[in-house]
Amino acid sequence: VTKNPQQPEVNIGLVGHVDHGKTTLVQALSGSWTDQHSEEMKRGISIRLGYADATFRQIPGADAPECYTVEEETEDGDETDVLRTVSFVDAPGHETLMATMLSGAAIMDGAILLVSATEDVPQAQTAEHLMALDIIGIENIVIAQNKVDLVDRERALDNYEQIKEFVEGTVAEDAPIVPISAQQEVNLDLLIETIEAEIPTPERDETEDSQMYVARSFDINRPGTTWDGLMGGVVGGSVVAGKLEEGDELELRPGREVEEEGQTEWRSITTEIRSLQAGGNMVDEVRPGGLCGVGTGLDPSFTKGDALAGQVAGEPGTLPPTRERFTMDVELLERVVGGNGDEGIEEISTGEPLMLTVGTATTVGAVTSARSGEAEVSLKRPVCAEEGAKIAINRRVGARWRLIGIGTLK
Ligand code: GDP
Ligand code: MG
Repeated sequence: VTKNPQQPEVNIGLVGHVDHGKTTLVQALSGSWTDQHSEEMKRGISIRLGYADATFRQIPGADAPECYTVEEETEDGDETDVLRTVSFVDAPGHETLMATMLSGAAIMDGAILLVSATEDVPQAQTAEHLMALDIIGIENIVIAQNKVDLVDRERALDNYEQIKEFVEGTVAEDAPIVPISAQQEVNLDLLIETIEAEIPTPERDETEDSQMYVARSFDINRPGTTWDGLMGGVVGGSVVAGKLEEGDELELRPGREVEEEGQTEWRSITTEIRSLQAGGNMVDEVRPGGLCGVGTGLDPSFTKGDALAGQVAGEPGTLPPTRERFTMDVELLERVVGGNGDEGIEEISTGEPLMLTVGTATTVGAVTSARSGEAEVSLKRPVCAEEGAKIAINRRVGARWRLIGIGTLK
């Protein structure tokens, strides 16, 4: 496998219940993708960001859907034509947390909902993830009915009907359902054709001020590296507006908490872009869409272990404000998704803790004032967000956080 011929231009999320085949599908579509990353960034990004790039291609002169492929050459050795390069956002295997899915959703332009044909529909995260797509407003959805190699025709059709019934009245109501086997690589051509039709590359304006959502951050140095060999901190995420160029100054918000004379305060960080990676290549500039890695001049201890995940980066002086508290309009769901039976949702009350996802940031906030349809929260960790930003609101129900509604920052 060689590097992708283009920068990825769209982010496609992989969502669905654990073990339904998300990672297997990403691997089938992107080949041995870890090899595409240069050694220095490979260790940091491809493993921990849980992302991969793939290039969709077309065999010239062949019929649809057989013409769709990810191979560079046909069996006869003819070159295939490049359609586009895409990035997949896949939560790592151990991350079944809703918060991870929600912060990933902030950078998804569309999603593939994987549903295993071997289980009843919906399983808990199938329902939760679909609801999350719904409230975050991700409308371009393809449903992949996976593992059809493990069931007979009758069971597959029955499962298909269950999926149909489940998505009725949701954002995925009209989403095409493509039966596949990710593991046996069956029907992936039809899946690619469907993705090409259903998840178009959004229009973007490269002349706007640059803005990047940081999803992960790393220290890519091997333990024991001496100071003269140290690489600066790396942030990974997606450019959502404008473009980043090597050599640009970069501001990160909220930045870091600094202590001065007994007072703590969040201060944005400014650094420079030393290297950029997209589509498996080192590049001079990164345009919106797709995932990228940014090598900075930061002390790697600032970026270690996702310390900067959830922050916003961009041209200094242009970023949205840092908010340690805010008021939001609240729209509650009718009932808890993925729960047992029909648990209703009570109004938000003053003093209760909420887990809030704003962009790629997840933070816990205490409600300082609650009225019907509105709540004011005070955050443990501030967020950088514009007025009008969508907020996923989670409440602790039993042992875990459950999505209870959507907020809009006032
Ligand atoms: P994830 O949790 O959604 O990322 O699921 P994985 O991709 O890790 O897959 C879970 C298990 O199902 C693995 O053992 C895969 O090999 C297996 N699997 C995934 N897709 C298929 C499929 O289409 N057919 C069969 N038979 N097994 C599959
Ligand atoms: Mg997985």
